[in-house]
Amino acid sequence: MIDLHVHSTFSDGSLTPTEVLERAALRGVKAISITDHDTCAGCSEAARAGERLGVEVLAGVEFSVALEGVGIHLLGYGTQGWSPSIERVFARLEAARNTRLVKMVSRLNELGAPISSDQVRKEAGGDIVGRLHIARLMVKRRMVPSLQVAFSQYLGRGGLAYVDRERLTPEEAFETIREMGGVAVMAHPGVMERENPGVFERAFDRLLSLGLDGIEVYYSRHSSEQTERYARLARQKGLLITGGSDFHAPNPDGLELGHGFGGLPLGMECFWALKAAISSPKTRKG
Ligand SMILES: [Zn+2]
Ligand SMILES: [Zn+2]
Repeated sequence: MIDLHVHSTFSDGSLTPTEVLERAALRGVKAISITDHDTCAGCSEAARAGERLGVEVLAGVEFSVALEGVGIHLLGYGTQGWSPSIERVFARLEAARNTRLVKMVSRLNELGAPISSDQVRKEAGGDIVGRLHIARLMVKRRMVPSLQVAFSQYLGRGGLAYVDRERLTPEEAFETIREMGGVAVMAHPGVMERENPGVFERAFDRLLSLGLDGIEVYYSRHSSEQTERYARLARQKGLLITGGSDFHAPNPDGLELGHGFGGLPLGMECFWALKAAISSPKTRKG
């Protein structure tokens, strides 16, 4: 069993990379990739923990790009490399995240919620600051009864204090993933299709023209019909098949590392195929 889509405290997950790897080892996950939003900062810690625990680790990242008027998530794998231009991209995204935080907090202030950006940063405790940390603070201060309400009324898309995040252009995301020596995979196409019906074909064609390498066929929230369709598409287009749980935190609704909601049928062959693609540039068209 493997899991190629997992978040840690370096973005909006609740476990450190080491804790993720420990949980993975306990649950029989043989290979894993930590794919935090807009950063590879947790990858080296994950690699060290993996070595200690006997779990294969692939470096990864998840970018959100604007394409055909919607947000599409792209996974980059094999991203061990580092360069000044990659650092610039990550720094820009981090600055954008901070600007977004300040804007959302000031909207909350206008709505009468007495919180500050510094308090939110403190709540995050050195982790990358995100909406989850604002929501936690709101719950602690009893401004809202639960995280769900914080998101549905204020922080979620369409909420009263929602501010959209800055996204990379697809070209920038592909370029960055290439520069990291990685392969680009379309994340959870089923989620994107559900949220934006009618856009998938165009968006997928655009990604193909940019040199897409793979598609996340197996995903916790894909129906079996979707899984079959994306697997067929991958075979038709000669794309890599990947999959993952998108685990963020130990979760009462049952989503588990390596399992999703009860079975992600991904074996090591998928992991080795991905690794082979990373080390052989011929599969990259860009
Ligand atoms: Zn995603
Ligand atoms: Zn994700």
